[in-house]
Amino acid sequence: MGHAYSYRCDHCGFSESFNQGHGFQVHSQLVSDYLKQQTRIFHYKTHNLLCKLAQQQTGLHLKAGFQIYKCPQCKTLYDKVEVCVYDEDKIVHKSEFRCKDCKTRLKLTNIHRLKKAICPRCRQRTFHRNYAQHELFP
Ligand SMILES: [Zn+2]
Ligand SMILES: [Zn+2]
Repeated sequence: MGHAYSYRCDHCGFSESFNQGHGFQVHSQLVSDYLKQQTRIFHYKTHNLLCKLAQQQTGLHLKAGFQIYKCPQCKTLYDKVEVCVYDEDKIVHKSEFRCKDCKTRLKLTNIHRLKKAICPRCRQRTFHRNYAQHELFP
């Protein structure tokens, strides 16, 4: 189960919600089980990488969940499905994401401490957490 965190801009009224946690299709499983499914829930590049890893090694596990990231340059927020591949306890692969505007590597952010961010539309520092809209997703 995950949480949806809603943000709203006081300046232009733009609102967006960000997911964090584990949705119903995004959970810990064997890489080989994931590859047997008909539905592709990850980005095609991630999918191709998982295929390659599974050919090299058996018994790999993957964990995936929504995480909230922030661009250290633009201070804009993103929610992305982070995929981690494990061989026992060792991390074999971990997703990395880049900002669509400046291409800087995104940093994981702690949504609980993040009260303000930059609005992706008007670029003002008036993008606030909207506590009234806090909800759960399956
Ligand atoms: Zn705005
Ligand atoms: Zn950026």
